[in-house]
Amino acid sequence: MALFDPKAKTIAQLQRANEEKTVAVRRYFDEIGRLYYGQYRDVTLDVSKEINTRCDAISNLYADIEANKLRILFEKGLKICSTCKKDNPLEHAFCSACGAKFPDNSQTEVEVPTGLPPLPETVLSLIRREPVSESDASDTSVDLKAEMPPISDSEQKEEDHQDESF
Ligand SMILES: [Zn+2]
Repeated sequence: MALFDPKAKTIAQLQRANEEKTVAVRRYFDEIGRLYYGQYRDVTLDVSKEINTRCDAISNLYADIEANKLRILFEKGLKICSTCKKDNPLEHAFCSACGAKFPDNSQTEVEVPTGLPPLPETVLSLIRREPVSESDASDTSVDLKAEMPPISDSEQKEEDHQDESF
């Protein structure tokens, strides 16, 4: 039955799109981490442009993902109150929780908010975490500095490339 339901098909497509966007977000975060680490190891590198490009891409992906979540809810006959975030049936003119008025066209159209969604918990939790203290970091029998590998070839190539551009 669900296979012939056009709403179910649309929902599945939106969910798949969001899964792909989530994978892309993870890849960009991973690349930002490696770029930052390259700069940490060699302070003569400047990768801020490369990092910012990926940050912008992540922001766009987060906005797309949130918009798709609203589209999925819409297909399910629901809309979100922009004031209190409570989900309501599409036909409601006013929020059942806080009484805020919905836009007149909210029954027939998805209202995608402009601007960026708030920082996700996966980012906030990392920012809030206390930094690793010196005593914790040195509490190991392995001498990490002695084990430090050189910057890999691919990172070294990026550096060479930057030198040529001067
Ligand atoms: Zn509300």
